[in-house]
Amino acid sequence: MQNYELPVLNRKFPVLNRKFPVLNPELPVLNHKFPVLNPELPVLNRKFPVLNPELPVLNRKLPVLNRKYSVLNPEIPVFSDEFLLKNRENLSPEPKNGTIFTEFFYYFPYFCAMPKEFQFQVSPEAAANEDLLVKKVAQFCKIGASDIQKVVVLKRSIDARQKSIKINLKGKAFLVGEEYTDSKIELPDYPNVENKQEVIVVGAGPAGLFAALQLIELGLKPIVLERGKEVRGRRRDLKAINVDGIVNEDSNYCFGEGGAGTYSDGKLYTRSKKRGDIDRILELFVGFGATPDIMVEAHPHIGTNKLPQIIQDIREKIIACGGIVLFGTRVTDFVLKNNQIEGVVLQNGTIITAQKVILATGHSARDIFELLYKKNILIEAKPFALGVRAEHPQSLIDKIQYSCDYRGEFLPPAPYSMVKQVNGRGIYSFCMCPGGVIAPCATSPGEVVTNGWSPSKRDQATANSGIVVELKLEDFKPYQQYGPLAGMEFQKAIEQKAWQLAGETQKVPAQRMVDFTQNKISTNIPKTSYVPGTTSIEMGQVFPGFLTQIMREGFLQFEKSMKGYLTNDAILHAPESRTSSPVRIPRDDFSLEHLQIKGLYPCGEGAGYAGGIISAAIDGEKCALKVAESLK
Ligand SMILES: Cc1cc2nc3c(=O)[nH]c(=O)nc-3n(C[C@H](O)[C@H](O)[C@H](O)COP(=O)(O)OP(=O)(O)OC[C@H]3O[C@@H](n4cnc5c(N)ncnc54)[C@H](O)[C@@H]3O)c2cc1C
Repeated sequence: MQNYELPVLNRKFPVLNRKFPVLNPELPVLNHKFPVLNPELPVLNRKFPVLNPELPVLNRKLPVLNRKYSVLNPEIPVFSDEFLLKNRENLSPEPKNGTIFTEFFYYFPYFCAMPKEFQFQVSPEAAANEDLLVKKVAQFCKIGASDIQKVVVLKRSIDARQKSIKINLKGKAFLVGEEYTDSKIELPDYPNVENKQEVIVVGAGPAGLFAALQLIELGLKPIVLERGKEVRGRRRDLKAINVDGIVNEDSNYCFGEGGAGTYSDGKLYTRSKKRGDIDRILELFVGFGATPDIMVEAHPHIGTNKLPQIIQDIREKIIACGGIVLFGTRVTDFVLKNNQIEGVVLQNGTIITAQKVILATGHSARDIFELLYKKNILIEAKPFALGVRAEHPQSLIDKIQYSCDYRGEFLPPAPYSMVKQVNGRGIYSFCMCPGGVIAPCATSPGEVVTNGWSPSKRDQATANSGIVVELKLEDFKPYQQYGPLAGMEFQKAIEQKAWQLAGETQKVPAQRMVDFTQNKISTNIPKTSYVPGTTSIEMGQVFPGFLTQIMREGFLQFEKSMKGYLTNDAILHAPESRTSSPVRIPRDDFSLEHLQIKGLYPCGEGAGYAGGIISAAIDGEKCALKVAESLK
């Protein structure tokens, strides 16, 4: 068949030939001489029949070529494997000047010899049981179960929208005889940077640690300065705050190796849209010991019990490559000359010099915000969100989310996510921890702060979540004398008030949820997961009136979406106040350098460019890349 007869394909005119099927309008222009697809969209590579994962459909009626490899549309059994293999010779003369269609047939047998892709829903039991899963995949791909060598799940999520809960699975099935290797995620080949140019990284949270790793990859030597202790040493200070109510200002749930995310639930999802960046960070976590499941789960998490070892391994890698990691080194000043940073000063007076400083000190480094302000280095007030941490029995959340009395052995403890609008402001769940514990997260004596964590199995009896209200800059007006620190002072005042009201220990003000909505002090508060304990307080005393009002209305609205959520079995703890930084340290959009101070790279959550472990790690890498670029 002469391909000249064929019209050029384009998005608007997708018909190839009447005799032949209508092509997907997404397909690119066909070359007249030879119907190879646009090389930028390599639908069919003639040498090797790889399909563009983005362009799977050839024709709605004809078989669907699914992502990466070819799987026939199971509803169209015409082209069975057997048929194609048997008829390969007849079907596939070498396509010399063939059409896309003849090429398609030529390569069809190859496609069929490749792993089958699948995407379907199964019961939680089938998703958890390998034998059942193989059977389901076989049925879906219309092949025998015994022909399957290995089923690899690539993506897993829960669909809890209907009464009967389903698990969405997407993956590949490798047939017997096909090449299958269990691909292990490897770490990049980090070079030795002992004698390379030094870059200071202040803060060993996710932003600082991933910046350090990236610097090494780029041939630079990171000097990581962390005010807190190494990850294991932190544990003693966490015990002290939980049991004795003693807050160590350098070592606590927010400060110390691994940063604020170390003793957390380790949720690894982000609103960041760039899948490539996210996957890279997830792969690094896996390379440093996290379960590969985090690459598969729609909502991955690592867990408090697993994170410390991963953090320690990252530190050991940095040191093994010739980088430096120092603990108990609180940065208290910057060395500046003509608006150029030349180094930092430590609490003990030591000066460490470098032309480039990545400042990744997190949302709780109030002394750094104060230092910047005092030195007239540009910072801005930033809106954040503030509210309470609500704790329910996990069984109740399971019941609501899974519409069942008992979630059974195959479903994980249910999470929830809620957003409502009240009086023109968002009120939403934040950092929800299924099967988790509420932690005392103050960073200074004289304040109480809550947040939550979960172990990897999320097997605690309670579910907790921040329920926070979006703040606006105008809310900080009563603190305007603090200039860009107004939001921070607003935050501080609420934390200090809560501390006073609850008895000037690490106990938190607490109230039953229904009592709160009815403005009634709770006659008693049952034991909650918050170890330092609770004091029954009317929450309205902790917050400005407008916040209390929004939260009261918010809980009523939540009940409309999650029947049973509004209950006196749920206990509110106050405040949840460290949701994100109250300050932004402005930087140039392109160079990522501070707008005024050359060589200073505000980074991560504290600077206002991240909101969680993954986005902080991504921002750390970005800053390191820009540092390296500027040194070229
Ligand atoms: C209990 C808890 C649970 C959380 N759970 C999750 C979760 O499940 N998922 C998630 O995505 N996010 C979670 N977060 C938020 C997450 O931890 C942060 O978004 C993230 O850690 C921010 O990373 P960062 O590197 O920008 O800052 P940080 O992690 O805050 O790290 C900053 C580091 O800088 C150090 N530092 C501060 N000042 C100085 C100084 N002057 N000199 C030297 N060092 C200094 C601090 O000690 C700290 O180690 C949680 C936070 C907490 C507190």
